[in-house]
Amino acid sequence: MHRNTLTAALALALAALLATTGPARAQDFPTKPISMVVPFAPGGPTDTVARVTAETMSRILGQQVIVENVAGAGGTIGTAKVVRAKPDGYTLLLHHMGLATAATLYRKLPYDTKGDLSAIGMVSDVSMTIMGKPGLEPNTLGELIAWAKARGDKVTFGNSGMGAASHLCGMLFQQAIQTQLTTVPYKGGGPVIQDLMGGQIDLACEQATTSAPLVQAKRVKGYAVTTKTRLHALPDVPTANEAGLRGFEISVWHGLYAPKGTPAPVIRKLSEALATALRDPALLQRFAGISTDATADRATPEVLRRTLNAEVDRWAPIIKSAGQFAD
Ligand code: ASP
Repeated sequence: MHRNTLTAALALALAALLATTGPARAQDFPTKPISMVVPFAPGGPTDTVARVTAETMSRILGQQVIVENVAGAGGTIGTAKVVRAKPDGYTLLLHHMGLATAATLYRKLPYDTKGDLSAIGMVSDVSMTIMGKPGLEPNTLGELIAWAKARGDKVTFGNSGMGAASHLCGMLFQQAIQTQLTTVPYKGGGPVIQDLMGGQIDLACEQATTSAPLVQAKRVKGYAVTTKTRLHALPDVPTANEAGLRGFEISVWHGLYAPKGTPAPVIRKLSEALATALRDPALLQRFAGISTDATADRATPEVLRRTLNAEVDRWAPIIKSAGQFAD
C-alpha cells in the first residue's frame, strides 16, 4: 500500500475506534458525576431549586448530579468558573435572570454572556417577596413605603450582591419609591434571610422559594409579592401592583447551561433529562411546596437561548438609566 494511503487508512481506523470507544460518545454520557454550579451560597432559593432538580436528574441520568456552590459578585464568579470549564457536559450552571442583568451591571466581565454558554433549558419561574424583619412597625406595603421614605438611608436592605435578583428587586423598589436606602450585600439568599430573621437588616426581597414558608410561619413580615397574581401559599399577601406600586413586577426565571462548545448530542441528552425531571410528580410536588413553577415546556436550548438574549437586551436600558453599575 502507498504510504499516504496507509496513513489515511490508519487515521480512518483510529477515528472509527474512537467513535465506538471514545469517552465523548453521547449515548454513553454521562459516565461519571456531573457538577451543577450554583453561583450563590447554600440555603438560598437558587440552591434549593438546584438541589431538587439535581436530585431528580441524577435518577434520570443514572449518575450523581452534585450541586457545587461557587458564590460571590452577584453570581458572576460561579458563572466564570463554568465558562472556563471543559465543555464536556460534566460542569453545568444553574442560574437565574441575574445572568442577564449582570451583563449590563458589570462593565467588565470575564466572559461574554450571550456567547460563552450553551443553553440547555429553562428550569423554573418564581415570584419574589418584599419582606421586613420580625416586629417591623409597618403592617402594609403602603405603610412600609411611608416608613422607608421618612428614614431614607437609615433603612437597610439586604441583597445577594450586585446582579442578584434581590439586588434588582431592591433597586426597582428604591426607584419606585424615589428613596435611597442602604444596601447590604451578601453572597446569597440563605445568609440574607438569616440576618433578616435575626433583625440585623430591616428589609429584603427574596424569591418565594425560601421566603414564602417563612412569611407563612410569621418568622418575617411579608408586604408584597412581585408577580402579577398572588401566591397560593400567601393568599393574604397582596401583589406589589395591587398594594400601590403600579407596574412593579418581577418573575425570576432560571436556566441550566453548559460551557460553549459542549457537543450538541450531550446538550440534547441533558435537555431531555431536564424536561423529564421537570415533569416528575415528586419534583412538581416539592416545587409546589416552595411556590416555584417548573417550566418543562420551556426546557429546551432554543427557548432558553431566546430568553437569555432577550432579557440581556431588555434590562440593559433599565440598568443604564438607573446608572448603578457594579464596577
Ligand atoms: N436569592 C438570591 C438572589 O437574589 C440568590 C440565591 O441565593 O438564590 O438572586
